[in-house]
Amino acid sequence: MEKGLLFVVSAPAGCGKDTILAEFFKKTDAAGYAVSATTRAPREGEINGVHYHFLTREDFSEKIKLGEVLEYTEYCGNYYGTLKKSVDELVLSGKDAVLKIEVEGAMNIKKMFPEACLVFILPPSLEVLEKRLRGRGTETEEKIRERTLQAKNELEFAKNYDYLVVNDDLDEAVEDLLAIFRAEKLRKERCAGLLEQIRGEK
Ligand code: 5GP
Repeated sequence: MEKGLLFVVSAPAGCGKDTILAEFFKKTDAAGYAVSATTRAPREGEINGVHYHFLTREDFSEKIKLGEVLEYTEYCGNYYGTLKKSVDELVLSGKDAVLKIEVEGAMNIKKMFPEACLVFILPPSLEVLEKRLRGRGTETEEKIRERTLQAKNELEFAKNYDYLVVNDDLDEAVEDLLAIFRAEKLRKERCAGLLEQIRGEK
């Protein structure tokens, strides 16, 4: 079986990663979201097994011990990790796996799988990001400052990614992500046997 593509998408909070990916999935059946595990509590509307596998710290630690977690990190006091099972299920169903993970996890994935494709979504500027965070109206001033600072730190990792997408205009950002995905699928390394097939040798 041909190996699936690991498509890693990261972005600081407030960059519109979830919205962009939701639109991305509407436009392609070739990729699926590899559902991560987390120890954080579900937010309103989040469904266990769809948005995350919500686990206790004990269950999460057990999964690490059993080698069921591909990568994990502690972020804002909670564990987040990519489950091997989530990726395998997608690959078995013939889909490529999209990993929506933070920067350290992305760097670990790249170390383990150098052929993985890493995309970083950027805000047009830090000022715009701060405005967007403030616009949500859900965060305290202190939290906004904390998140802006965190975003600044996360931006430092962007240079290690393969592609950068600026979310200035949502439709354009979605098109950019689709274009990257399509181009990655056409890499000669991922088209094993294609030439032989065309030549009738297979
Ligand atoms: P949130 O709590 O907002 O859903 O996620 C917080 C951060 O954790 C986001 O940057 C998200 O992409 C990241 N994250 C979610 N799942 C994983 C995972 O499996 N591994 C890593 N390393 N980060 C994750």
